[in-house]
Amino acid sequence: MNNALVQLEQVAFKYEGQEKNAVDYVSFDIYEGEWLAIVGHNGSGKSTLAKLLNGLLFPQSGRITVQGQPLTEETVWDVRGQIGMVFQNPDNQFVGTTVQDDVAFGLENAGIAREEMLVRVEDALKRVNMEQFLNQEPHHLSGGQKQRVAIAGVLALRPRVIILDESTSMLDPKGREEVLVTVRELMKERGVTVLSITHDLEEASRADRMIVMNQGSVYSEGTPREIFQLEEELVKLGLDIPFSIKMSTLLQERGVSLSQTHLTDEELVNDLC
Ligand code: ADP
Repeated sequence: MNNALVQLEQVAFKYEGQEKNAVDYVSFDIYEGEWLAIVGHNGSGKSTLAKLLNGLLFPQSGRITVQGQPLTEETVWDVRGQIGMVFQNPDNQFVGTTVQDDVAFGLENAGIAREEMLVRVEDALKRVNMEQFLNQEPHHLSGGQKQRVAIAGVLALRPRVIILDESTSMLDPKGREEVLVTVRELMKERGVTVLSITHDLEEASRADRMIVMNQGSVYSEGTPREIFQLEEELVKLGLDIPFSIKMSTLLQERGVSLSQTHLTDEELVNDLC
């Protein structure tokens, strides 16, 4: 197994006035270069976990380390340079009047010199296939394009880890696909480590590894194939396995070979035709 880039050790967090921990003594590692998906129904603690990983909240017990460095109020700015976060609603993430300004924003804040900044902005936009939109207003883009620009803004900062916090949940199927394909390309080309937090099992099926959260705890951990074997348990946890995944698993069990392990409905139909 690769090296652990991020380690969570017995991390717990409770919101003020709440009886139960939102994150309840959670331990797991995120390995360099992997795509780890964290899934769980509403209220299972996914967003709280994302905020803890990005230093928007701090554990009340246990600890998080990034490359061996503990994530604390003192180290949070260092660590944020290594962990970039893309949020759910692309419209709430824009600060610039053009795509270029927007992607440059984080670099300006980080005090990067103008020449270097322009190179990084262009490079990041190329990585997400959005370089031709440099001078456009972000609000005129489609949902998938906006999320790709948001990813470019994070990429320009050259983080080791990108957290996608329900980043595709407001997108239509085309936009969602654009973002997920872009993520996989980035991993291949740049060795970026990805943590995606989602309630969408189809999205999670693209990951290398999955963690299922329930009531603030890790319920199960494994490859998507291993996790989808727990079908009935997942349903009990309020997680529905998409039809395409059920079908492709069944077909493969019966010896039908498919182009990939997990397919979207459309890919499944194409494969079968
Ligand atoms: P998820 O992202 O899986 O939907 P959350 O991390 O948002 O789960 O929520 C975990 C638990 O923490 C839930 O019981 C939720 O009600 C509670 N919670 C989340 N945010 C807050 C908050 N700001 N104040 C109080 N309780 C919260």
